Amino acid sequence: MHILILVMHVVKYIPKKVYYEKEILNYDQGIELFERYSKMDIPTIEIERHHKIEELRERPDEEFTELKKYIILGIRKSLRLVPNDKSADYIVPFTSSGCMAMCTYCYLVCTFFTSSYLRIFVNREQMMNSIKRKIEKEGVHKVYELGSNSDMVLENAITGNLRWAIEEFGKLENATATFSTKFHMVDDLLDANHKGHTQMRISINPKDIIKKVEIGTSKLEDRIHAANKMFEAGYKIGINIAPIILVEDWKYNYINLIKQLYNELNGEMHDKIFFEIIFMTYGHANDTINKVGMPNVYDVFNKDIMRPKGRGKYCYKQNVRDEAEFLITNTIKEYFPKARISYCV
Ligand code: SF4
Repeated sequence: MHILILVMHVVKYIPKKVYYEKEILNYDQGIELFERYSKMDIPTIEIERHHKIEELRERPDEEFTELKKYIILGIRKSLRLVPNDKSADYIVPFTSSGCMAMCTYCYLVCTFFTSSYLRIFVNREQMMNSIKRKIEKEGVHKVYELGSNSDMVLENAITGNLRWAIEEFGKLENATATFSTKFHMVDDLLDANHKGHTQMRISINPKDIIKKVEIGTSKLEDRIHAANKMFEAGYKIGINIAPIILVEDWKYNYINLIKQLYNELNGEMHDKIFFEIIFMTYGHANDTINKVGMPNVYDVFNKDIMRPKGRGKYCYKQNVRDEAEFLITNTIKEYFPKARISYCV
């Protein structure tokens, strides 16, 4: 069944151009993707290194949305797992970086600027081997984050890599895979042999924010539906309210969002889920690129309630944030009294 589902999603995320490192043709997935796009007559352009594509670097910020239509195929060289103390014990450099969506606050834009397009790394076995070595070395249960630099559900619609990784984790002891997503295309994952070793954190925001700000991602109802389907398929589920964006009517919108979760999430989940709360950080790079790349987009930056956070980034002033944190955490406790709030940052 999963092959048919994958083909349906692949059709939706067809790139306009594909840039590829020649070395990908030494890997089965590299050959498969290269042949797939060549047969579709999509231009394929050979590059030296996925992180240094001069032709794309030279393109002006105005072309941000155009560049988001491209896919880069390469080999991931750095396989070093990075310790983490929030959603996981380790951040894994995994099979993708960047994304085809265009959330106007996207943290990746602050690192990669207009090069925050989707890069897919085809050497997945090497990455999985790196995880296995770490698991063996640790010897005790740890959580491994697969999608800190991308959205694995979106990537899976193109590569099937998330399903593959879930099944690999299903065979391992002392390890839980975790990923956060703003997409709903989980049908391919429902019958994966996960053995309870994978956790999905569905990232949500009020409907209006998703529509105006999280451009190109899935609708709120579809994300909630996806969380229900994954829960019913036996996965552990977390709710990631992220990022919290304090724009007009935010109190009303976030209270309603939590009520909507209460009403629409499978009732059996209410005691079992956990929440993560993340306030928006907005970068100078976001501001610059949004203004010219997406000039009519809704502006989430409000200098009256934000303060510099260092390295060209802004966060909410402490008093503003405290008020929001109090309201949101208390509303969660009211509707989901047994749910854990893992962290609020
Ligand atoms: S879905 Fe995530 S990675 Fe993609 S644009 Fe939005 S914030 Fe960035």
